[in-house]
Amino acid sequence: MSRFLIRARQPWGDNGPVRLVRDPDILASHLRDAAYFPGGHATELVAPVTEMEVADALRVSECVLAIGAQSSLTGGATPMGERLITTSRMNRIESIDPAGAGTVRVQAGVTMAALDAALAAEGRYYPPAPTFGGAFVGGTIATNAAGAATFKYGTTREWVQALTVVLPSGDVLDIERGATIAHSDGYFDLQLAAGRVRVPVPTYTMPDVPKLSAGYFAAPDMDLIDLFIGSEGTLGVITAVTLRVLPIRPAFCLVFIPFNHRRQAMEFVHRLRVTSMETWDTGNPRGVDISAIEHLDARCLEVIREDGLDVANGVNIPRSAVMALLVTLELPPSITAEEAFHQIGGAEMQLAPDSPLARFCRMLIEAEVFDDVEIAVPGDNARAEQLLALREGVPASVNKRVGLAQQHDARIAKTAADMIVPFAKMEQLLEFYDDEFRRRGLDAAVWGHISDGNVHPNVIPRTFADVESGRQAILAFGRESIRLGGAPLAEHGVGRNPIKQQLLRELYGDEGIEEMRAVKRAIDPEWVLAPGVLFPP
Ligand SMILES: Cc1cc2nc3c(=O)[nH]c(=O)nc-3n(C[C@H](O)[C@H](O)[C@H](O)COP(=O)(O)OP(=O)(O)OC[C@H]3O[C@@H](n4cnc5c(N)ncnc54)[C@H](O)[C@@H]3O)c2cc1C
Repeated sequence: MSRFLIRARQPWGDNGPVRLVRDPDILASHLRDAAYFPGGHATELVAPVTEMEVADALRVSECVLAIGAQSSLTGGATPMGERLITTSRMNRIESIDPAGAGTVRVQAGVTMAALDAALAAEGRYYPPAPTFGGAFVGGTIATNAAGAATFKYGTTREWVQALTVVLPSGDVLDIERGATIAHSDGYFDLQLAAGRVRVPVPTYTMPDVPKLSAGYFAAPDMDLIDLFIGSEGTLGVITAVTLRVLPIRPAFCLVFIPFNHRRQAMEFVHRLRVTSMETWDTGNPRGVDISAIEHLDARCLEVIREDGLDVANGVNIPRSAVMALLVTLELPPSITAEEAFHQIGGAEMQLAPDSPLARFCRMLIEAEVFDDVEIAVPGDNARAEQLLALREGVPASVNKRVGLAQQHDARIAKTAADMIVPFAKMEQLLEFYDDEFRRRGLDAAVWGHISDGNVHPNVIPRTFADVESGRQAILAFGRESIRLGGAPLAEHGVGRNPIKQQLLRELYGDEGIEEMRAVKRAIDPEWVLAPGVLFPP
């Protein structure tokens, strides 16, 4: 068997008629995603339970949009008249770590929160989760989601071991990582029921960044599985997945740290990054081991105050703070809350035995921020939830403002970017954001995964003019991030957002987009799946 050829199989499951949902109330709850992309409409929805039902729905539909939790920030999960296929009923966790394989097999509609809870009960851990726990596994693979912990663990792509995908033809591919590699002449062959299909591998060079969700993956000798990861529902419907998991779940300590100066905060992030990388390199059991550093800018802190999130979550944020970090420190799984408190108190009095937590506290003392930090020690789930609620409350609050503005003008949409640059260039990019927003008179908040050099500038639009001006600002940010050696599309994908589609074009040029379209034409010649997502149909 050639390694660039894969044979599809015919689907299994019940072969009943496709059951269409036309209830307007049910449909109404599926007409938009978290991008507040305007104009969503659909008249039919299918909620399959089996792979056969997915295949049948694909075979009989003119156009289809697969959806998960619709937490997309790109409009990619907003229907534009397609028949919707929701994976919400394909929500079974099939096996956890079978025969010590270090994997979990799940259906596409399992939520990240349900997966995490099931793994936690077995002491296992799946790290590359987006910060929204309601997202479905299938959605995270379709967008190559990343999240807070990319700094230590990489993106979804690195953790996907196998995929089951139903193609627009109704054929099913079971793709194992390592089993199907591109031919050295740059193609894959798919043996489908109707004949053989040759899929060209695009020739553009992807930017070298820790996370990327920018159209189709392409590399010489690439694995077929990587073509489907991040393809945003345009090549097939993912029905089941095998993910790698960590055999041991670390203990997590969350630390919220307000700073009075941005430079001071950025220096602290730099120190944490360097110290953690040393720990990983040396394997020092007492070294500081950070998996994520989230950041909130001054406007985010204002939004928190305006919406009372600080009071609701019992967190005091000094008025003088202009930036805050939420740091995830990983500790040995055996540590108890009492031991953690003892180490924190000891560090303050310079009496603590040497430990990762005591070392981390000493870094806080040296940075002169120890007195203002809020710490959730391992096991203090209630406090951890409050600190996470503060971080997660910011996008929710900003999105709420977008929704309210949209009630006055339906053209208003979420206007946000998802850039990544090498960490050394991060401050430069933040200054560029400030200048551009100030110059345009835009209200904006910036937050994100600063440990990766990936933060999300979000316009808080009052009018449609703000949206238009914000879009121009985002194009400028994208060009600047490419100039700084980064990428304008880090983790959310491209979707239907015209600015993101333009940024994709700026990243790979017209030829690159044409190469992506050639992949799409080979696998989906009738353009059934997600027309208008990634590039115009
Ligand atoms: C509050 C908030 C925080 C977020 N934080 C992060 C973050 O930290 N990191 C990050 O990467 N993203 C983040 N996101 C974005 C979003 O959660 C991710 O893109 C997530 O992966 C989408 O999953 P979903 O199930 O909601 O997919 P949907 O939004 O339903 O769909 C997303 C795309 O995937 C396609 N798709 C969905 N399911 C399938 C399937 N089974 N087969 C084929 N295609 C499919 C859809 O067609 C669509 O193009 C956040 C969103 C919100 C609202």
